[in-house]
Amino acid sequence: MAVQQRRNSKTRKAKRRTHFKLTAPTLVKCPACGEYKLPHRVCSCGSYNGK
Ligand SMILES: [Zn+2]
Repeated sequence: MAVQQRRNSKTRKAKRRTHFKLTAPTLVKCPACGEYKLPHRVCSCGSYNGK
């Protein structure tokens, strides 16, 4: 089993984490049922863009 040579410093960890959570959870409300859903996806109620 490989053993890591160096522990990552706090700065290195923080730099790696800067790429996390760049995309905020985007949710849009379904106009048909009012549920929050992902945009450009068919809702669980079967409607898309009000149809
Ligand atoms: Zn819906």
